[in-house]
Amino acid sequence: MILSPFDKPGQFWRGNLHCHSTRSDGDLPPEEVARRYRAQGYHFYCQSDHFMAEFDYPITDTTALRTPGFTTLLGAELHAPALANGEIWHILAVGLPADFAPNDEGETGPELARRASQAGAFVALAHPQWYGLTLEDARQIDFADAIEVFNTTCAVQADRPDGTYLLDQMLLDGMTPYAIATDDAHFRDAVNSNADAFGGWVMVKAETLEPSSLLAALKSGDFYASQGPELRHIEIQNDMLHITCSAVERITILGPRAKSETLPGKAMTSAHLPVEAFRGDWLRVVVTDAAGKRAWSNPFRFGA
Ligand SMILES: [Zn+2]
Ligand SMILES: [Zn+2]
Repeated sequence: MILSPFDKPGQFWRGNLHCHSTRSDGDLPPEEVARRYRAQGYHFYCQSDHFMAEFDYPITDTTALRTPGFTTLLGAELHAPALANGEIWHILAVGLPADFAPNDEGETGPELARRASQAGAFVALAHPQWYGLTLEDARQIDFADAIEVFNTTCAVQADRPDGTYLLDQMLLDGMTPYAIATDDAHFRDAVNSNADAFGGWVMVKAETLEPSSLLAALKSGDFYASQGPELRHIEIQNDMLHITCSAVERITILGPRAKSETLPGKAMTSAHLPVEAFRGDWLRVVVTDAAGKRAWSNPFRFGA
């Protein structure tokens, strides 16, 4: 059995789903944000400014920034009360309609996320480690499509980039969110304005670079997340997992609780690992290259 997205037709498109501009608290106008992503070899990005009253609830129309070989998805980072710890929710919504209505009076984060999901958006829990989002919080948005397993800005500015701990707990709890890596770039660093950019992205497999086809692929989980390494194929046959990828030094399979299996090596581009121990559970694959950069597969529920 070939795992998604490697069983899907089309090609991989590289995209950043989360970043800010002068439409909220970022330092660069959307035109320059788009230019930098295009110049770095990305195929698409989502201008996801803070959807708040103080910024006049921006959903930036980036359609004019589309060029041959580069497209945009409309979206925003949604905010409303409140996690159990009192922080306002940060909910990434990619693929929002341009006329998505501002927060209703008294609307909570989970209600707002539900409205975005019903409007067709790909909804993700942003940077859970950074602001202390718990499993109990996540259960209120059990319909979320994804969680950020890596966020560049939270790595650079707070040393709290991670979402995998929560991802594993959500999987054990019965939810199956996908894993995304994003930048959340604000381009505000005084020394290097790219310091919080180009650190984590998604590779979406789709037949065309049309926004609608990218959004459908995201909603179906036809992608993987990366900081650098490429995943090229993952397949399970006779309780062996076969993987091909760019050169890496560790291939790890993770499952519930303490279940894991790691293969170390030098410049490995393919491997076979036993997965019988994961049968009846879920598993996910992480590869790590010589520079410590990772790529994450989406979780896969492995039938008994
Ligand atoms: Zn945020
Ligand atoms: Zn953000």
